[in-house]
Amino acid sequence: MNIDTALPQRTLPSDQDASGRTLGEREIAYLSEAIASGTLTSTKGRFVRALERTFADTLGVKHAFACSSGSAAVHCAIAALDLEPGDEVVTTPITDMGALAPILYQGAIPVFADVDPRTLNVTAETIEAALSERTKAIVVTHLFGIPCEMHAIEVLAKKKNLPIIEDCAQAFLATHRDRYVGTIGSIGAFSLQQGKHVTTGEGGLVVTNDDALARRIFLFINKAWGYGDIEPDHYFLALNYRMSELQGAVGVAQLEKLERAVERRVLLANILTKWLESVPGLSTPLQPLEGRGVYWRYAIRLDPAFFPGGPAAFAAKLKDQSILTAPRYIAKPAFECAVIRDQRTFGKSRWPFTLARPEAVRYDRERYPGVYAGLDQVLVIPWNDKLTIGDVEYIARSVIATARDLRRPA
Ligand SMILES: *Cc1c(COP(=O)(O)O)cnc(C)c1O
Repeated sequence: MNIDTALPQRTLPSDQDASGRTLGEREIAYLSEAIASGTLTSTKGRFVRALERTFADTLGVKHAFACSSGSAAVHCAIAALDLEPGDEVVTTPITDMGALAPILYQGAIPVFADVDPRTLNVTAETIEAALSERTKAIVVTHLFGIPCEMHAIEVLAKKKNLPIIEDCAQAFLATHRDRYVGTIGSIGAFSLQQGKHVTTGEGGLVVTNDDALARRIFLFINKAWGYGDIEPDHYFLALNYRMSELQGAVGVAQLEKLERAVERRVLLANILTKWLESVPGLSTPLQPLEGRGVYWRYAIRLDPAFFPGGPAAFAAKLKDQSILTAPRYIAKPAFECAVIRDQRTFGKSRWPFTLARPEAVRYDRERYPGVYAGLDQVLVIPWNDKLTIGDVEYIARSVIATARDLRRPA
């Protein structure tokens, strides 16, 4: 590719508005139907039920439940396990706080595994190093839509008899060994937030093949009220995490577009990879050994030996080209956030951290070489299914030109 010609500025589509979202007539039609019906609650309406059925069928899983957010979806998954206070859940420090807060709300202790610096995903090895006799579950996050290497994680979980929760908020229709992520572990959690593959503004989905877990998930969304039972009661502590029919209507229309949206993201990402794969010092997203990534974002890695200014310098240059990337993805690992670092939970109690093994809440830098190396090298390029080939070429040219400008002279 000739990169010597000056690039005319281009405004890329954004998933925060209509430019980067595929919301249209179908959503409006279903929404109108929901409003005209006068039934806006999912306990009586048809759209949330249809969304759940369609999503379950899409993934080939027995049960799917809609809820109010991706955070709520993870909360349902954790709550379904009915943990005891002080139980440990091994998870990743590079994720959305919405995936960690539910562990604390259920009285459990998040114990952070290190990650593979190339993917920022947890691995069987890093999980194993974080296990203790108090570990009761594993949460994996398929970051940026690239699936974790699930086979080795499954083998470990089986050996230790631990349930796996898959956080698939960024990984709709990603696969591992021809299985969709979210159906490999005991429970899968998805987000329909504004910036995800498909959206209802806010919303979440929880899937499982296990009837007993499904029952608890359903109850947890519904204040644990036994709808339809002969003698219903509020069986345990739970909130109202229901999705409304308004979101359900939009969600049904969005699911019709999911496969195409995912295909488009993958196709465009493969094109960008072709263009970027030979840039010295730059690594394109590591492909899963036995599966398919679905590119929630397109995350590249910059070798510090080539780029002394790191992702921050790269991002500043790309910003001049109106390409708004995120150096480091998240500013810091989750355990450096006040809620966890300072144990700000319920009043001054610090509960449930007061129940934790001291070892489980020590976040020394040396324990997390992959986390720090990974965050120092990653540059996250926004991605959506409304990008054109021209947009992708523009991104490629801008990245190649930036790499040439910033590379340390040999
Ligand atoms: C977005 C996200 C969540 C939380 O979803 P919300 O709908 O924003 O509550 C959880 N985990 C991951 C990995 C996410 O990307």
